[in-house]
Amino acid sequence: MFKGGIKLLDFKSLSKNEPIEEFEYPEKVIIPLSQHTGSPAKPVVKKGDYVVEGQIIGEITGFISSYIHSSVSGKVIDIIPWDLPTGRKSLSVIIESDGERKSIEKKERNWLALSSEEIIDIVRESGIVGLGGAAFPTHVKLTVPPGKKADFVIINGCECEPFLTCDYRILKECIDEVIEGIQIICKATNVKKAFIGIESNKIDLIPVLNNSIKNLKIYVEIEIKILPTKYPQGSEKHLIKSILNREVPSGGLPIDVGCIVFNVQTVLAIKRAVCNGIPLTERVLTCTGLVGTPKNLKVKIGTPISKILSYCNGELKYGRKLVTGGPMMGIQIYDLETPVIKGTTGLILLPEEDLPEEIQPCIRCGKCIEVCPMFLLPSEIGRYAEFGRFDKCENLNVFDCIECGCCSYICPAKRPLVDFIKCAKFKLRKK
Ligand code: SF4
Ligand code: SF4
Repeated sequence: MFKGGIKLLDFKSLSKNEPIEEFEYPEKVIIPLSQHTGSPAKPVVKKGDYVVEGQIIGEITGFISSYIHSSVSGKVIDIIPWDLPTGRKSLSVIIESDGERKSIEKKERNWLALSSEEIIDIVRESGIVGLGGAAFPTHVKLTVPPGKKADFVIINGCECEPFLTCDYRILKECIDEVIEGIQIICKATNVKKAFIGIESNKIDLIPVLNNSIKNLKIYVEIEIKILPTKYPQGSEKHLIKSILNREVPSGGLPIDVGCIVFNVQTVLAIKRAVCNGIPLTERVLTCTGLVGTPKNLKVKIGTPISKILSYCNGELKYGRKLVTGGPMMGIQIYDLETPVIKGTTGLILLPEEDLPEEIQPCIRCGKCIEVCPMFLLPSEIGRYAEFGRFDKCENLNVFDCIECGCCSYICPAKRPLVDFIKCAKFKLRKK
């Protein structure tokens, strides 16, 4: 078990029992060319072009980049900068759908007949990125760097952020495909053993997982690990520590300790791309919180958030805020025409907190240090960042911060510690 972290009320019962529902085919989609970590894709369509579902509209521009596909059939009406849920802007392809659902030809394949390189190529061409929120290109993760060796594949089924239940529903409804996806990943990375990490608040999934493993033809060893429900259990580094007691070094990656970690929805996307020829054009997200009808929805990438919110009977009004992602690491949204992107795990309507008008001084209670799962000194980093001493933040290993939000959550003085930290990282990267 890892040190630090916090126990949170999970609010998952709001949407946990809602089966995945296919959201309406959008009339218009806004598809950003930068939805992933790395360099933005380059547009390969122009205004006036007709496109079909699954057609490439943005081309990869480097090793750490991703292809972008159209999620509907219809006409490209513009290519302009648009706000992303992350607060940045990205050149985006606007497509008016014709409702015809025309699609590229989908190619069925037997993954057992494919080589590791062929699997990785398919994943790259299908535009798959980490669907747990980080949106790191998956083909890069699958490519084990020279001199490194992957011992284990770890599947993150923790979904440790409160409110979110889309991964839970995927494990419940699509488990056979997920198990197949795990084996495809093991083949691509030449690994013989995989773990699935599940938090104890999803214990009802154990028989579902066991049945699937028992009934399917399994070529690798798959072990289920039940982990305590503690935030941020689903962070890659903490998952590895909890399952294998291995510690990723400061500045290092999971592969440095022989592990590669994937979110369950990413595994499903890999299976569908490799076996069924389906590129990443949709994802499952949870729309919950103060909405009238919380739901788990399968949504086309590029669908405006406003449509989903009104479908779930939610209204953004005075005293409320809308967050994309989980409540701990998510980002507040102000413009409802912002589109769903590959990394959008959830839309959560929450009450606006009463924050002090001015930043309050630290009372030196030490609580932020106790909960920090990365052994950092958030109070000190925050203090230096507040006064622009970013060099000091660097000395205090600010880049090891995973932005989990535990420090801000626990701080009795309501100091915006994660915001200070994000600001320090931004300034230091610009240096
Ligand atoms: S300093 Fe970073 S890693 Fe530590 S609790 Fe705060 S947000 Fe989490
Ligand atoms: S929790 Fe807040 S008040 Fe307490 S030491 Fe940390 S920054 Fe200071």
